[in-house]
Amino acid sequence: MPTQNNILSAPGLAEVRARIDVAGKKAGRTADGVCLVAVSKTHAVEQIHPILEAGQRVFGENRVQEAEQKWPELRESYPDITLHLIGPLQTNKIKQAVAVFDVIESVDREKLARALAGEIARTGKNLPVFIQINTGEEPQKAGILPREGDAFIQLCRDELGLDVRGLMCIPPADEEPALHFALLAKIAARNGLAALSMGMSGDFETAIQFGATHVRVGTAIFGTRPPIHEV
Ligand SMILES: *Cc1c(COP(=O)(O)O)cnc(C)c1O
Repeated sequence: MPTQNNILSAPGLAEVRARIDVAGKKAGRTADGVCLVAVSKTHAVEQIHPILEAGQRVFGENRVQEAEQKWPELRESYPDITLHLIGPLQTNKIKQAVAVFDVIESVDREKLARALAGEIARTGKNLPVFIQINTGEEPQKAGILPREGDAFIQLCRDELGLDVRGLMCIPPADEEPALHFALLAKIAARNGLAALSMGMSGDFETAIQFGATHVRVGTAIFGTRPPIHEV
């Protein structure tokens, strides 16, 4: 258990946890029904240490190479870390991604799903995945279109044998996120998927209200990032 001192040295984390707790209770959920994925992209290992010291164990990174540089070292001190890939994955980085990550949240196209299934079969690694849905149908954004979601889930789960746990989305920046969260929840429910990764620093309480099981929070825990690293 984290000590009081440790949690005081991570005030952003403490506040986010408290807000998740309140939002969960409001939504009639238990606190452990929502998994906090602490998004540590751009932040150096020195900044991640206090968050680990405060007891956080689930983290998200959006670049394979950055994760490879930071996390093997951190795992030596904290073997119970769970690392999620939350950014686009190129097929030429699949080997590295399967080696360094524990969960892939951003399965967003058939070619990737097939290559991932091949690498999982080759390595025998148990690797849960989420399918990213482009709920806003934004041309510049990754993800499966909502109307193609059912067929893609079937392909991944039934044909390719991927361990599909749920869905993930990043709502358009300028729209009410609730509509997108509701849409994601609907697609998951009709496909029997339990996990919903949705909600970031600006909207994780709304996401919890709409059934998020995983919230991906960076800025509210670590502070602001240099703008060049934004997705
Ligand atoms: C960076 C990022 C986040 C975290 O965003 P914040 O606004 O800093 O909380 C969440 N999800 C994805 C996919 C991201 O790339």
